[in-house]
Amino acid sequence: MRARADLHAHSNLSDGIHSPSELLSIASDLNLGALALTDHDTIDGLVEFMNAEVPGCPIRIPGVEISTEYQGVEAHLLGYFVPTWAPKLVKRLKALEESRRKRFPKMQNRLESEGIRISDDDIDQILQGVKAPGRPHMAKLLIRRGYVRDIEEAFHKYLGKGKPGYVKKERADIGEAISLLKSEGAVPVLAHPVTMRLPDLRSTLIELRELGLLGVEIEYDYQHLRLNVKPGEVQLLAEGLGLIETGGSDYHGDGAHRNLGSVTVPIHVVNNLRKVHEELRNNTSEAISG
Ligand SMILES: [Zn+2]
Ligand SMILES: [Zn+2]
Repeated sequence: MRARADLHAHSNLSDGIHSPSELLSIASDLNLGALALTDHDTIDGLVEFMNAEVPGCPIRIPGVEISTEYQGVEAHLLGYFVPTWAPKLVKRLKALEESRRKRFPKMQNRLESEGIRISDDDIDQILQGVKAPGRPHMAKLLIRRGYVRDIEEAFHKYLGKGKPGYVKKERADIGEAISLLKSEGAVPVLAHPVTMRLPDLRSTLIELRELGLLGVEIEYDYQHLRLNVKPGEVQLLAEGLGLIETGGSDYHGDGAHRNLGSVTVPIHVVNNLRKVHEELRNNTSEAISG
């Protein structure tokens, strides 16, 4: 396993179960060669991730997974080799988090007109320490207050698109997020492209490459999303485009996603990412020194 890298994992700083150090310990026990931490819309876990003392520690790649939008469709953008000090990126992520929090009073108002009472205290409580507040959190409140039985019913009746409690989520434009990552020296890679459910993914990849995209997640298990993807299908779509081909388990520790280390790529992918990161970093420091 030392020759393999898992480049997609979440800690409890976003919606995972384990702390960044615990992830490294698990990866070390699995004898993984490299692990990337890619929390949703936050880099708050990176300091712990990069500094934790873990025996037999794999190579660590500091990363992030940003929720972005491409032509009205949600697209997840991975960034690799994100510096722990990335002020421009952090500022933008904080602004997005803020706008996602502001969505809650709006959902609350709309639900109230349906006769549903969710208090401010309920909302404060459920969002405490949450970096990526979203509809699943509101769904949990609806379950807790006995309005629905489960998350599925909450979305079907109230929170899904076009339902009475629906409020659109603000997302960064993918072009903007690509440029932002690069300006911090991080390598932008499109995550699990099939989840975008676009008819012509190859054209999408070509367009995104023109916007500055440098990689695409090829190895990914879509089964937990009930998406039927044939082995090698995504690789074929990306063939000849010159994008760095990454992959990972998208481990959350919640049982719903794959296990850490169950989806991997060869370790040389890490070297490719590092090389591009170093080029980006040199370019930005040259621009600064003028
Ligand atoms: Zn994702
Ligand atoms: Zn993910």
